[in-house]
Amino acid sequence: MKPVIGITTYLDKSPQKVYAGVSNSYIHSVLAAGGLPVLLPVVDDQDMAAYYLTVIDGLLLSGGEDVCTMVYGENPIKEVEMFCPERDSFEINLFCAALEQNVPVLGICRGLQVMNAALGGTLYQDIFAQRKNVLGHLPKKLPVDTLYHTITIEEKSILARIFETDELRVNSYHHQAAKDVAQSFKATAFSTDNIIEAIEHKEKPFVVGVQWHPEDLTIKYPHFIKLFSALVDAATSLGRKKMS
Ligand code: MN
Repeated sequence: MKPVIGITTYLDKSPQKVYAGVSNSYIHSVLAAGGLPVLLPVVDDQDMAAYYLTVIDGLLLSGGEDVCTMVYGENPIKEVEMFCPERDSFEINLFCAALEQNVPVLGICRGLQVMNAALGGTLYQDIFAQRKNVLGHLPKKLPVDTLYHTITIEEKSILARIFETDELRVNSYHHQAAKDVAQSFKATAFSTDNIIEAIEHKEKPFVVGVQWHPEDLTIKYPHFIKLFSALVDAATSLGRKKMS
C-alpha cells in the first residue's frame, strides 16, 4: 500500500468556467517519493476537511495566491492583489484537522504561510515594501527550477536531518513571508537577509513548511526528493497505525 498524499488545489477562475488545478510538479514529486498523490478540491462545506482527513495519510499544502490578510487581522496594502477566501478557510480547516489527527503536513510557499497564519502567526504582506534591505526572492524572468539564493538551516532541525547540511541553495518565488511565527512553530531556515525560509512544529513529528518550491527542483536536482520522501515516510507510519 502506498501512503495517500492529499495535495491542495486552487480555483482557476477563467471567464466561462471555474477549474480546480495545481502544478504537476507536486504530483511528480510525490510520485517520485513513493506516495500516491490525490488532489483535494476547494470545497465550501466546513465539515468536508475532516472527511478528507479520513482518506489521506499525509497533507501537502501547495503554493498559490496570497493568504487573505484578514486571516491575521490586517487590511491589505496595495501590493496584495489576489486572494481566495474560500481556499483559505478550506486549507485552514484541513490543516487544523491534520494537526488534531497527527497527520504529517508539508506546506510549500503559500502552504507555510497558511500554516503560520492558521495558528496565530502573521505575515509580511510584501517583503519588498515592508522590510529594509531585502534581497531578491521573486525573479520573475528565471525558470522556476533555478537555484537562486542560499538558506541557512538551524542545527537539529528536521530540515538539517533531511538534507544533512546547514546550507542549501534553493529557488525562490514569493513576495510574502512569515513575520511573527506562531507559538507552536519555530523558524528553522533563513535567507541571508533574514527572511524566514522554513518553519517546523515544535511538538508534532512532521509538520514542516518551506518558503521555496522544492517540487520544481526534484527533476533537475533529485536531492530535493528527500523532503517529499520525509513526508511519505511520516505518512507511511501513520497509515500503519490506522490499519492496526
Ligand atoms: Mn526566498
